[in-house]
Amino acid sequence: MTMPTNGLFLTEEQLLFKKVLREYCEENIAPYYRETHPYNAPGDGYDDYYHKWMKELGDMDCWRLGINPAFGGLSGDIIDRMIICEELCRVNGGIAVHAMVQPTHGEQVAMYAPEAWKSGLGEKILSGEYSVAGAFNSPEGQVNFSEQAPLAKKVEGGWLLNGNKCFSSVGPVCDVLLVLGLTEDGTTYGFVVNNETPGLTMTVHNEIGNSPTYATYKLEDVFVPDTHAGDAMIATNRKMNPVPPAAKGFGLLVAAGAIGSMDAAFEKTVEYWKKRTCDGKPLASMGECQRKLAIMKTEIEAARALTWTAARKIQAADADAIVVADAAKAYTCETARRITDECVQMWGCLGIDPDTGIIQHHLDCMGLSIGVCTPDERYSSIATNMGLPGATFQCL
Ligand SMILES: Cc1cc2nc3c(=O)[nH]c(=O)nc-3n(C[C@H](O)[C@H](O)[C@H](O)COP(=O)(O)OP(=O)(O)OC[C@H]3O[C@@H](n4cnc5c(N)ncnc54)[C@H](O)[C@@H]3O)c2cc1C
Repeated sequence: MTMPTNGLFLTEEQLLFKKVLREYCEENIAPYYRETHPYNAPGDGYDDYYHKWMKELGDMDCWRLGINPAFGGLSGDIIDRMIICEELCRVNGGIAVHAMVQPTHGEQVAMYAPEAWKSGLGEKILSGEYSVAGAFNSPEGQVNFSEQAPLAKKVEGGWLLNGNKCFSSVGPVCDVLLVLGLTEDGTTYGFVVNNETPGLTMTVHNEIGNSPTYATYKLEDVFVPDTHAGDAMIATNRKMNPVPPAAKGFGLLVAAGAIGSMDAAFEKTVEYWKKRTCDGKPLASMGECQRKLAIMKTEIEAARALTWTAARKIQAADADAIVVADAAKAYTCETARRITDECVQMWGCLGIDPDTGIIQHHLDCMGLSIGVCTPDERYSSIATNMGLPGATFQCL
C-alpha cells in the first residue's frame, strides 16, 4: 500500500483518515470487484453489497464528514469529500459515485425537505442507512435549460411532475431521490421523492459497462408537497445563473475519483511491467518503457496538483476558483481517460480481460469524464468566465 504523505497539504487527521479508509477499501471492497461488477448488477447480491458498504462507511463517519454541520454533519469540507471519493474510486467506481452523490444531494434534500430531514430522514442519510440519488439529466441535455421541457406544474399544496429523467447513477439502489427540473416559468426546482412514489416508474439501465448502474425515470402526475420542494437556484427564466465557487465542488469530487482510478490502474500497470518480460528482461527495466512510465507518472501528478489547487481556491473563495475548478475537472478527467487507455494497452490482452480490472478503470474514467458536465462543456464554461466575446455557456 503506497500512501502519499505530503504535497497535498492535508492535516495529520486527514492523512490518518485517508490511510484508514484505504485499508478498509482494500480489505472490504476490492475483493468483491467481480461480484459487484456491473454486468452482474443489480441483483446477484449487488444491492446487498452496496447497502452494506454505505452503512459501514457511514459508521466510519464518511457521510457525516461530507455533510455540513448546519444539517447535522461534521464538516462538509470539500477536501474531506475528495479524500473519500479518491480512495473509493481506487477500488470500485460504483461505490465511489455513491460517495459523490450522497453528501452533494444529501445537503439538497436537507434544504428542500427540512422538516422531513429533521424528523429522521437526515439521520438515515448521515448514517448511510439510506442512499440518495439525483435525477437531473433530461433527454434534451443536462444543462440545456433553454430547450428542456418543463417538469413541474404548481398545484394546490404542491407540484405535479411529468417528464423523463435519465442516467441517474445510484438510482436503482436509492432510498431517496432528488429530482431536479424546470417549473413552468423556467426556474430549476428540486423535489424530494422516493422510488415508491405513485406515478414514478424506474427502469434499470445497466448495460453501459462502467461501474455505477443507472436508472431511467418516467414521471406521470407525480405529486410532491410543498414541504418537499425548493428553488435550486441553478437557472432562472431558462438561463443558468452565475455559479458560486462552492457549487463547483461536485465536479472536483468527480476529478478526485478520476485521480484515484487512474492512479490505481497505473500502480497495477507498473507492477505488471516489473514482472512481465520480453527477451528475458522486465519491460519496466527497458529505457523506452521507463520513459513512458515516468511521463505517465508526471501527468498524474500534474492532474492531482491542479485538482487540489482548485479545491483550495474553492475553500478560499478565490476570484478565479470557478475557472480553475472547471479546468481541473476537464484536465484531470481527460488525463485519466488517456492514462487508463494506455494502461489497457500496456497489459496486452489482459488489459481487456475484466478479471484484471484494468478495462474497468478505463470505463470508469470515461464515465467520470462525461458525468457532471463533459470536458468540452467545462472549456465552454471557462471561456464564459474568462469573459471571451460571445461566450455565454455555464455548467454545473
Ligand atoms: C458516470 C456518470 C454518472 C452520472 N450520474 C448522473 C446522476 O446521478 N444523475 C443525473 O441526473 N445525471 C447523471 N449523469 C449524466 C451526466 O451528468 C450527463 O451525461 C453530463 O452532464 C452530460 O450531459 P448530457 O449527457 O446531457 O450531454 P449533452 O448535453 O447531450 O452533450 C452532448 C455533447 O455535446 C457537447 N456539448 C453540449 N453543449 C456544449 C457546449 N455548450 N459547449 C461545448 N460542448 C457542448 C458535450 O460536451 C457532449 O459532448 C451521469 C453520467 C455519467 C457518465
